[in-house]
Amino acid sequence: MEHQVLYSIAGIATTILVTDEDFLLFLDIGDGILRDIVENKNAFPINKPVHILISHGHFDHCGGLYSFLGFLRMLGHRQVVSVYSPEGSNEIQTIIESFLSVYKSSLPFPFEEFRLSHGDRVTITDQVEVESYQMKHQGSIIGVGAMSPIPSLGYAIYFKGEKWLAFTGDTGYHKNTELLVDNASFAYIEATNKNGESNSYHLTPDEAHKLGRLANNYRLIHNRYESR
Ligand SMILES: [Zn+2]
Ligand SMILES: [Zn+2]
Repeated sequence: MEHQVLYSIAGIATTILVTDEDFLLFLDIGDGILRDIVENKNAFPINKPVHILISHGHFDHCGGLYSFLGFLRMLGHRQVVSVYSPEGSNEIQTIIESFLSVYKSSLPFPFEEFRLSHGDRVTITDQVEVESYQMKHQGSIIGVGAMSPIPSLGYAIYFKGEKWLAFTGDTGYHKNTELLVDNASFAYIEATNKNGESNSYHLTPDEAHKLGRLANNYRLIHNRYESR
């Protein structure tokens, strides 16, 4: 199994790709996904089961879902496609409903949808499992301010029972972020805020590094484009 960042900028898109002999797994599926995968030899051609785990319903994390499902249909993809999202995530579930309302009768692949809550575990293969962790996140609109909290999950991927990869999605710092990252072989940790502008729904680099030190190795992702 290998993992890599296909793209990650806050407010634009984030997608992490996990490749295995037996499956492809995406952690979030932002806009640009098709451009990101077609020239990536790990991701394309797609000839195995596909798992798509989405952390929350903001467009920069799920905006590529409709395109990707349409792409797989066009290709005549045959293996199962499974989409996992937080229970109550209206944005993601509306995308799926919209897609199925048009294309369900002409899908060449079996489609499965799972709605997850904190502590749920899903089996990918007999050696690979995923556990979901409740995160703490909300949206904001420039000029309007912070909105209500939304369902959001971080995911830990276990390989042979060991925590192989942790992914925070978007979140403020709290106990569950520590539990998610703790003892992971590798962690992808969001760092959208700048140091000195902390809030309860994104991490600063200082907070993200503090979390990262709980893992064996880590990388900060999802910073803002103006701070690249
Ligand atoms: Zn985001
Ligand atoms: Zn977000």
